[in-house]
Amino acid sequence: MFFMQDQTASIKTRSYHMSPDEFRRHGHELIDWLADYYSKIEQFPVLSRVAPGDIRASLPGAAPQKGETFEKILSDVNDLILPGITHWQSPNFFAYFPANASGPGVLGDLLSSGLGVQGMLWSTSPACTELETHVLDWLVPMLGLSEKFLSTSTGGGVIQDTASSASLCALLAGRERATGFLTNENGCDGRLVAYTSNQAHSSIEKAVKIAGLGAKNLRSVEVDQNFAMRPESLSRQIDADRRSGLIPCFVCATVGTTSSNAFDPLLEIGPICRQHDIWLHVDAAMSGTAAICPEFRWIHNGLEFADSYAFNPHKWMFTNFDCNCFWVADRRTLIQTLSILPEYLRNQATETGAVIDYRDWHIQLGRRFRSLKLWFVIRHYGVEGLQHHVREHVSLAQHLAEWIRADKRFELAAPIPLNLVCFRCRGGDAANQLLMERLNRSGDLFLTHTKLEGKLTLRFCVGQSNTTERHVRQAWRRIQEETAVVLKN
Ligand code: PLP
Repeated sequence: MFFMQDQTASIKTRSYHMSPDEFRRHGHELIDWLADYYSKIEQFPVLSRVAPGDIRASLPGAAPQKGETFEKILSDVNDLILPGITHWQSPNFFAYFPANASGPGVLGDLLSSGLGVQGMLWSTSPACTELETHVLDWLVPMLGLSEKFLSTSTGGGVIQDTASSASLCALLAGRERATGFLTNENGCDGRLVAYTSNQAHSSIEKAVKIAGLGAKNLRSVEVDQNFAMRPESLSRQIDADRRSGLIPCFVCATVGTTSSNAFDPLLEIGPICRQHDIWLHVDAAMSGTAAICPEFRWIHNGLEFADSYAFNPHKWMFTNFDCNCFWVADRRTLIQTLSILPEYLRNQATETGAVIDYRDWHIQLGRRFRSLKLWFVIRHYGVEGLQHHVREHVSLAQHLAEWIRADKRFELAAPIPLNLVCFRCRGGDAANQLLMERLNRSGDLFLTHTKLEGKLTLRFCVGQSNTTERHVRQAWRRIQEETAVVLKN
């Protein structure tokens, strides 16, 4: 145990803290542990096999009275925690959308933890604010986004924890713009309406509930045969709501839906929102990363109409969870929506009006130094490196789609514009459910499902940092093997 006695102080105190030398030693041990983990990650079953309650049952009922050694803690990570890990960083992880990570991202996050900065105000760490503003400005041309999102224009970007929070902030700003900031004062009166497609992520419904609009005031707009929002249905619904005396205030379009990676037509949705002065938010949670490659920039056609836009580097841009980038075209509306300035936060820099205080750009007050990890990632890979890996993932998904097309036992269930392949074996829902369970139970890979046109559909998303052709080939072989078993029974 480390003792520290301050000779200049009259009260002798014992310290339980980890000394800098111990921190250095254990830090090295932990990095070694992680490097070993990454090099043997393919040995673990991708989906954790523990049953509900197993992990808790293995833990002591009460916290230790006396502090324990780092060795003991790390050994329990191996014995008690690892069995309960689903290995999101395994190259055989094809489930949901990825939450990919990388060495530079993890190290940037470690630095953020080590500095322990809380960047609620510019003055509470100027670098935390200014690096964030700068990196988000870098991303505007990197992704070919509209220049109005630049901090040097009327807009600007901020890092949020998740796409869910970004959508909520966008909805709140849209709500306030539509009601002259009076909803903040008086609360909702049940007349505000929001719109999104019936394929939008569930976080939009959650945002509508949190923002007080009420779930009944979220319109679920029809989609076309490619699962993209039908602009004419949106337009019809807005007209009908206006005629009923309601106040349309928010449209969320999705660039890469969760179920099938569909792209809502921003070029047609945008003018409808403009015509009715409705806030247009674009949720590009995973797929936004693709725009780093010029050949995939079509996904953002029409983004110039958007009031806000968000994507998650923590999904497909090698920046470990959590990191969502959120931009607004008019920062004043967002700030006016979310700003509250109690006396204890007043300071000279804020009074000058010359600085950004990011506390006014999101729900919570305190904030981590998240831009460090994004900065590390962008500097490590360079635009070229990021493009390389995104292209490789898309190409692997396209190869898988070809193999599926060529095997008569399967069908593709949706177009495959990027890195998500939706498919089914031709045996009905029960067969597909069994196929998925057998594959996931095997530990060889992990994939998940959705329902498209009422049919159970398997989703295979290529986006884990270290996935290569070998992994996708191996997964396809396993899918074929298990399909043979399932269709025989
Ligand atoms: N929007 C879309 C289109 C998504 O696919 C997801 C998650 O997969 C989300 C939002 C929610 O993401 P987050 O976990 O960052 O809130």
